[in-house]
Amino acid sequence: MQKIVTLKLHWQILIALVLAIVFGIFLPEKVIYVSWMGDLFLRALKMIIIPLIISSMITGVANIGNAESLGRIGMKTITFYLFTSLIAIITGLVLVNFLKPGVGINIGFTQQIDSASFQNQSLGNILMRIIPDNIFDAMAKGDMLAIIFFSLLFGYFVTTLDDKHSRPLKRFFDALFAIMMKITLFVIKFTPLGIFGIVAGVIAKQAGDSASLLTILQKMSIYMLAVLLGIFFHTFVTLSVILKLGKINPFRHLKNMTTVMLTAFSTSSSNATLPITMDAVENIDGVSNKISSFTLPLGATINMNGTALYECVAVIFIAQAYGIDLSFQQQFIIVITSLLAAIGSAGIPMAGLVMMSVILNAVGLPLEGIGLILAVDRILDMFRTAVNVYGDTCGAVIIAKSEGEQLNV
Ligand code: ASP
Repeated sequence: MQKIVTLKLHWQILIALVLAIVFGIFLPEKVIYVSWMGDLFLRALKMIIIPLIISSMITGVANIGNAESLGRIGMKTITFYLFTSLIAIITGLVLVNFLKPGVGINIGFTQQIDSASFQNQSLGNILMRIIPDNIFDAMAKGDMLAIIFFSLLFGYFVTTLDDKHSRPLKRFFDALFAIMMKITLFVIKFTPLGIFGIVAGVIAKQAGDSASLLTILQKMSIYMLAVLLGIFFHTFVTLSVILKLGKINPFRHLKNMTTVMLTAFSTSSSNATLPITMDAVENIDGVSNKISSFTLPLGATINMNGTALYECVAVIFIAQAYGIDLSFQQQFIIVITSLLAAIGSAGIPMAGLVMMSVILNAVGLPLEGIGLILAVDRILDMFRTAVNVYGDTCGAVIIAKSEGEQLNV
């Protein structure tokens, strides 16, 4: 008993994951008795996110101190995120052109797409929403970019106040951040139970239609292979090389992030994983709150290596399935719009699928092509979210190292 209680969290999560798969396959009709645990866990994570981001960003930015260092760290972070996303897309581009998963697929069907969810996704619209017209409304809706923007401004201007005013604000947000971290640590203890509930639910849903799922998986296997190979290559090769160049031990860092990646995988949400990501990057890797509170919430919102790669592979797969030969120029547009779509995707399940309409539109492919990849999207979402979050953590450690911090990796 003692042994089980002291088992490391990532082992507990792995065991929960395996048990959930078994449960979902063999007892799909009993899943309602456990899925509530997943719902509660997700609700608890979401409950933490907004006050955690606000307090940590304001404290972090206020501690960075002056406009010059804020500008420097900001530039480094954004450059790192854009650069790694672009490499991920190019990896996907090479793989999908090489494996050609869509060639030979006959698509004589048109599936119904929920068109409502594909509206209002223009990039201009997304950029516009960075500046909220009502910050309380943005908080209530969980509009991450707007919340980040406001917290950045707030944190920065705290540093320009005189001592009399800045001190109480800094102390207040410091204390708020400390309490949010305490609540986060408390919620993290329930991760194995939460993940058991979530994954059992997902598996039971799929298993209910196992015969057709199997045929779909077979038909889609090369497409899935292209996405997964790309994701594995990016995680284990590209990011490892980049970490090594940044004088970070990639194996150690990967090991430190096991719980984070398993949670991202199970929840399929960068946002929901954020409290756990912040805890691990600060407390295991040893990154300062100053850096992690800036890089991680921003990363969870705009940096999605896995999604970027997946967008590119999926759109070219759709083009291949329609028998459309893409010109170099069109492929270039796909690369750029994949990057924008990944930046614009919210850190929630299946957001990447919705954003794909932007790319299809840009290169003139039919929107209903999305129907082709719908069936396996939930599974791929788990993998891409894990690497999305891992990419953020790599950014945090590399930037912390470049700022001269002493880390445990
Ligand atoms: N689920 C992903 C995330 O939260 C986004 C996506 O759908 O690609 O990072």
